[in-house]
Amino acid sequence: MITTEELAGAAVAAARTALLEQVGEAFVGDHDQSVAEDSGVFTHYFGCTQPGYPGWRWAVTVAQPEGQDAPTIDEVVLLPGDDAITAPAWIPWRERIKPGDLSPGDLLPADEDDPRLAPTYLTGDPGDWTPAEAKDAAAERAGIKAVADELGLGRARVLSIEGRDSAAQRWYDGEQGPDVPLAQSAPAQCYSCGFLVQLAGPLSRGFGVCANEFANDDGRVVAHKHGCGAHSEAQLRKKQLPPPLPDPVFDTVSRSDLEDF
Ligand code: SF4
Repeated sequence: MITTEELAGAAVAAARTALLEQVGEAFVGDHDQSVAEDSGVFTHYFGCTQPGYPGWRWAVTVAQPEGQDAPTIDEVVLLPGDDAITAPAWIPWRERIKPGDLSPGDLLPADEDDPRLAPTYLTGDPGDWTPAEAKDAAAERAGIKAVADELGLGRARVLSIEGRDSAAQRWYDGEQGPDVPLAQSAPAQCYSCGFLVQLAGPLSRGFGVCANEFANDDGRVVAHKHGCGAHSEAQLRKKQLPPPLPDPVFDTVSRSDLEDF
């Protein structure tokens, strides 16, 4: 009677034969490992000697259910091992974009369901609508949008609460927030600066725009708690003032004095 070891040895031999038929002898190394996938199904791993593939292994899956005399080759694939050089994980392009990546002519449309934006004219929770109600709501929105367009208010979407909060947090934590060295060493904060232009809406409670052409943040949104040395009321400290000028010296020598001399 054939032993389990003999069966396993025959399966490995069958796997190697199939592998050699597929890829040729030049690129196949020694048998490395056999892993049970299911009852009567094993994957046999062989080293890969192909240049450029260090750490990769050939995997040959062989099935030999009970009662079947010859094994069946299911598949032959090349798989990366622990030390294989592999490509980095795929990251969707939208997640790869960083602030400042846009070049002239590039487009970056916001998704329909971008959580940072909300329709300007929300009319209820669409989740509860019947198809007829959804149709009525769409018609109503189209009508309101037409009026809004005519009045010059035609923004289809505005910042959602989530979008607004995320912008506020980003600005507060960024270079125009209160924690940067420029702000920490400022004589006073932006909220008391004459160069601060107020914003409108909820963000005006914490932010404004710097309009001091000599400040680093000219034209940028700054947190009220930000600040810089160009604050409108900044004064030089006594030790920073230029030294006082000496008393003037009156030159009393005239041209005739010189001629007499
Ligand atoms: S000049 Fe300085 S303190 Fe004044 S608003 Fe601009 S950043 Fe703030």
